[in-house]
Formats: sequence, structure tokens, C-alpha cells
Amino acid sequence: PEVPNITNNEQTITEGRATITTLGNVFYNPVQEFNRDLSISVINVFSKERSNSPKLEFGIKNENGIRILEALSATGLRSIRYAKEICGIKEIVANDISKIAVAAMRNNIKDNRVDELVTASENDAVMLMYEHRLKEKQFDVIDLDPYGCPSRFLDAAVQAVSDGGLLLVTATDMAVLAGNSPETCYSKYGAISLRTKCCYEMALRILLQCIESHANRYGRYIEPVLSLSADFYIRVFVKIYSGAHKCKFSTSKLSMVYQCNGCETFTLSPLGTVKTSDNKQVKFKLPTGPPLNSQCEHCQHSHLLGGPIWSAPIHDPNFVQKVITETPEHLNTARRIQGVLNVVYEELIDCPLYFVLERLSGILHVTTPPMMEFRSAILNAGYQVSFSHSRKTSIKTDAPAKVIWDILRCW
Ligand code: SAM
Repeated sequence: PEVPNITNNEQTITEGRATITTLGNVFYNPVQEFNRDLSISVINVFSKERSNSPKLEFGIKNENGIRILEALSATGLRSIRYAKEICGIKEIVANDISKIAVAAMRNNIKDNRVDELVTASENDAVMLMYEHRLKEKQFDVIDLDPYGCPSRFLDAAVQAVSDGGLLLVTATDMAVLAGNSPETCYSKYGAISLRTKCCYEMALRILLQCIESHANRYGRYIEPVLSLSADFYIRVFVKIYSGAHKCKFSTSKLSMVYQCNGCETFTLSPLGTVKTSDNKQVKFKLPTGPPLNSQCEHCQHSHLLGGPIWSAPIHDPNFVQKVITETPEHLNTARRIQGVLNVVYEELIDCPLYFVLERLSGILHVTTPPMMEFRSAILNAGYQVSFSHSRKTSIKTDAPAKVIWDILRCW
């Protein structure tokens, strides 16, 4: 649900190393502690990578450190926590359009004694980011944590992140992304969502293609380091690079999704294939997906067409591994972060989307086999299998759908 948890009365909250007071209706959602803790863990790894030094100090201004913009900051809690719990910081700008939020934020910055590192800003986030498009003004990290859909902030955000910098984006409009309103999804994200059992991963991939498409307009492209579905939202962490030449390869990282109306088998069809020839020329081949009215090879029903989605890897396993080993121990959700990231680390990186075991057996009207035995059968048939972090009963595999159906039929 997309209902923001708004506190009406003044309230003092301690989270991580920050203690803040909310005023009036300024947004604060305790459930998002995991989101904030995870972001702290990820930016810490990024900051160490960026500075090339494992020994950075917390809470102390580092002139060679990173510059962070929290574009939609509300109480300032997140920025204050970043100042106290991330090492190697030069500056944090905590911005909000609401006067009352910025008033609360100013008090909280003072009370937490992070004035040296955190500056409060009262601006429209879009205008502020447009003012930071030039190289010397760009931020190393931009965090977008809006109510609902983030897409209206993306055009400015992809321009205001420095080369190799990190963009963090939350989306909470899960109904739109998960296929309840595909036409709204198209108008907001430029992709058709599908009602599918793997809708959470599809949501992540729709958001990633949307960010990539905004970045491509400015000769930039993304490299996702971590993409998570959690609680009622999704959160992606992507690095943004400049390189018009590399943008030519974007079509090969995007696919349309054909989903059968009967057995729900999905097929991915890339928007085009791109190859570099011997003389380094980029060669583009037009897409050759199945026609939409073609019948499903498994049950002869027609297809629904969704996408485009990001069909390249959604995580960087090396980066994820560093976040697992370097998760700060003091975080309340440290164990949860490590638990989720261990599943993420094991995810098959080249197998977009997934089957859901009980749905497969429901479609065939057979008893659901035990998950571990079903996974063993896939492995014994010579294919790889993993879970997706976004669903307990998910099956990610490089086995063709025919193999999956055959295994289940013979159970
Ligand atoms: N990041 C915060 C946290 O972790 O607690 C929560 C942010 S809250 C979900 C979204 C905030 O965005 C609200 O405080 C709202 O006032 C602000 N906002 C909405 N539109 C904005 C805009 N165009 N520019 C700046 N702030 C905006």
C-alpha cells in the first residue's frame, strides 16, 4: 500500500546513531529503517572504493571525501545518519520542498552536531539537481526516496551524479509496477507491467530500464550494483557512467517479455543485439522476437506482451560480497541485511525472472513437490538453479521451460 505513515505530533526518535524530533506532519516511517541501514552499508563500501583507502573516519569532514545529496529528506534523519555512520564524507545536502520539513531538519542537524557535514536546503529537488549538472558541481551520491513513483526526478538525477557515482532510488508504487495498472506503468516508467508471479523482480527491472533510458539521453549508462525488493517497496543502487559509445549497447540489455495467457511461461526477447566487429564498428541487429499472436509452445494459448525490462544483471556480486562482509555491526537490521544479501549473492545473475513452485503445480493441478527435491531434479538434469531474494518459493534457472514442465509432469 502506498499510504505514507505520517506522524501528527512531535515525537523523538532514535535510529542508528541519530536522535531526531519530527514536527507536525513531517514524514517518518520506522519500517524504512532497513532501507536506511542498507543504504548506509552500501554507501560505506562505495565511499571506500572511491577514496581507495580502507581507513576512513566517521563523523569527520574529509576534504577528499564524497558529496551526497539526499534530494527528498523530510526530517533529515537519513542525512544525519549518513553523516554519523558513513566514513569519508566531504558534504551532505539534505533537501526538501516543505518548509516545515526543513525547519525540523535544521533543528535535527543542530541537535545531532553534524552542522559541519550536513547542510539543509529548501528547494524543489528537480531544480536543485538541474543546478548541479555541471561536472564540478555534480554529487558522488544522490538518494531519491519519494512517496510512490520516482520517475519525475530521474531526468535531473541522472545528470547530477558524477562519473562512476551512485544513484539510490526507492519506488513504493508497487501496484503500478506489479501489473495492476499496466497503462499507468507505461506512462510513468515507459514499460508495460504484467500480472505475474515474478512481479517483484519485474518491478526492479522496469525501474532499471527507466533509469537507463533517462541516462542514455545524456550519453550515460547504468551499472546496477544491488537491486532489492523489500517490505512494500523496491530499492535500486546503480552506478552511472558517461560514454556515448557504450549507450549503443543498451538495446541488448533490454528485453520485451512474452507471457503465456495459459501456463504463464515467460519468454524474453531482446530489443536488439549489438556486436562489436573486428574493426571495432558497432553492429546492430533488429529484434526478432516471436510475433505477439504466436501460440505458446507448451499449451497453445496466446501471449501477453510486457516490458521493456532491464534483462542484464541487476546486481554486481563482488560489490554485494563487500557489503555483506562490511555491514556495520551496530545496525539494528544488520542480520537481516546479511541474510537477504546472502540470497542475493547466490542469485543466478544471467537468468532474469523466475518460476514460482506452487504456481507451476497449480497450473498442472498436481501436488507441489518439496522445493529442495525439485531443485535437485533441475540440477540432475544438468542445469543451474537458485532462489530469488524477492520470493521464498522462487526458482531461478537456466533450464528451458520445457524441462521444468517435464520434471513436474513426471513427479
Ligand atoms: N528520505 C526520507 C526518510 O528516509 O525518512 C523520507 C522522504 S519522504 C518519503 C518524501 C519527502 O519528499 C517529503 O518530505 C516531501 O516533502 C518531499 N518532496 C516531495 N516532492 C518534493 C520535491 N519536488 N522536491 C523536494 N522534496 C519533495
